[in-house]
Amino acid sequence: MQALVEQTETKNVYDVLDFNLWYGNNQALKNISLQLKEKHVTAIIGPSGCGKSTFIKTLNLMSRLNPDIRMAGELNFRGENLLTTSMDLAELRKAVGMVFQKPNPFPKSIYENVAYGPRIHGIRKKKELDEIVESSLKGAFLWEEVKDRLNKNALSLSGGQQQRLCIARALATKPEVLLMDEPTSALDPISTTKVEELITSLRDSYTIVIVTHNMQQAARISDETAFFYMGELVEIGPTQRIFSNPEHKRTEDYVSGQFG
Ligand code: ADP
Repeated sequence: MQALVEQTETKNVYDVLDFNLWYGNNQALKNISLQLKEKHVTAIIGPSGCGKSTFIKTLNLMSRLNPDIRMAGELNFRGENLLTTSMDLAELRKAVGMVFQKPNPFPKSIYENVAYGPRIHGIRKKKELDEIVESSLKGAFLWEEVKDRLNKNALSLSGGQQQRLCIARALATKPEVLLMDEPTSALDPISTTKVEELITSLRDSYTIVIVTHNMQQAARISDETAFFYMGELVEIGPTQRIFSNPEHKRTEDYVSGQFG
């Protein structure tokens, strides 16, 4: 029985404990403790300025680029505290891919955009790269649209296609986690639907964290939802419960649209 329970238990990819972050003297994240479950989609919601973007950027230590940032607490990834570990940043970024609000393909060919990461990580053989490019573009629902023009500049694609290319680029290094910071906010409704369908198809293979200001989107695509308010985590739980029966009044007010 015990073995059965262990088998079905979901692993936590991130275990964040009492995490705090300051920009200079301004504390942007306060005593955040939460777990992010393996192969789940976790949505981070909350009003503008509550720390969503800051939080997601700490998960791959992008915050290290800003010298004004100070962090304290534990940010455990696969059981290692990223604040004290000697884990190589390149290794971390390979395991934790990121997609931004505005599609940001390199001004290179579609093929090169996807092959870039694997090449940096030492894959040189053309056949192997071809296979990665094809499977990543297929994984990002883009292959059929671009297979005949892989050598065209990525900037010739539409905004929605560029965003799916950025997702393909993130998939190419075979990450474990995909971080998405408002990935559809610059897209039209049809492209948004495509990216949402894509996220749903990726949820079985990847741990996904998505920041969204769109509550319907969180409700549609996520398994878990975390509600942040003024730098604090108010609550996290199964999305359906957060939207239908939240523990805190402030969450209820936010998800029912009483403030934004
Ligand atoms: P959200 O993504 O929820 O809109 P942010 O994480 O962008 O919130 O911002 C959280 C807080 O951190 C805000 O008070 C914001 O002004 C501050 N902040 C964000 N980025 C920076 C930065 N680069 N330098 C200084 N303060 C910042």
